[in-house]
Amino acid sequence: MRIERLNALSDNYIFGWWDPGHGGGTGGVVVDPGDARPVLAWLDRVGAILTAILITHHHWDHVTGIDALVRRFPNVRVYGGAADRDRIPHQTDFLQDGDRLQLLGRDLEVLFLPGHTLGHVAYYVVPLGDLPGELFCGDVLFGGGCGRLKEGTPAQMLDSLRRLRSLPDDTRVWCAHEYTLGNLKFALTVDGENESLRSRYGQVEKARSRGEATIPLSLGLEKATNPFLRWDVPALQRAVAGRDELQTFSRLRGRKDLF
Ligand code: ZN
Ligand code: FE
Repeated sequence: MRIERLNALSDNYIFGWWDPGHGGGTGGVVVDPGDARPVLAWLDRVGAILTAILITHHHWDHVTGIDALVRRFPNVRVYGGAADRDRIPHQTDFLQDGDRLQLLGRDLEVLFLPGHTLGHVAYYVVPLGDLPGELFCGDVLFGGGCGRLKEGTPAQMLDSLRRLRSLPDDTRVWCAHEYTLGNLKFALTVDGENESLRSRYGQVEKARSRGEATIPLSLGLEKATNPFLRWDVPALQRAVAGRDELQTFSRLRGRKDLF
């Protein structure tokens, strides 16, 4: 199987997932098509037929391409969270936490992760043999950061991030926006003594100046450097004078909103 990043809108990524081993006519899966054009171009290029659209949440930059894709592929299934019913165009499958899907020979687990929105889900492709897990997490976790709380509470988002943090370190994280460099700038203001963070910042700065993407992320590196997965680290609790994990997370999110 292969996953490709498709650039869309100003800083969104759409993910195209297919199995090149099967040659022409293989099924293709797309995650969060905010625009149909890059998806159609990708399908043409790799010779795949769109069989599934995975939607993480209802925001326009994740769903606007669905309509044109459904017109071109009328049998495509459109997956999304049950709590997003009526907010995702053409939705056919209404998913609950813990639901299992099978796509392209891999098992996926649906994680219900409220916080950025109240219906947000992530798709976790579970490891298979030597192949690591793949996480399509929309706007929950970003490189060095996390989604804004547009609908949910800090407690909901903290629980959602806690669940992601429990996944294996070698999980590859496919988040929906290229926000990593800006997020790491903020991270340095609250976790500046963290050597892994400082060296990551240097690498990301170079990569971005060469126009390279930072996605997929390594979940292990996120655990070591992303302040929004480090609410239980004393240095971060001190940085925002947080009494406990929830207050620390909440204050970090509040500061980042103003950064
Ligand atoms: Zn969003
Ligand atoms: Fe978004």
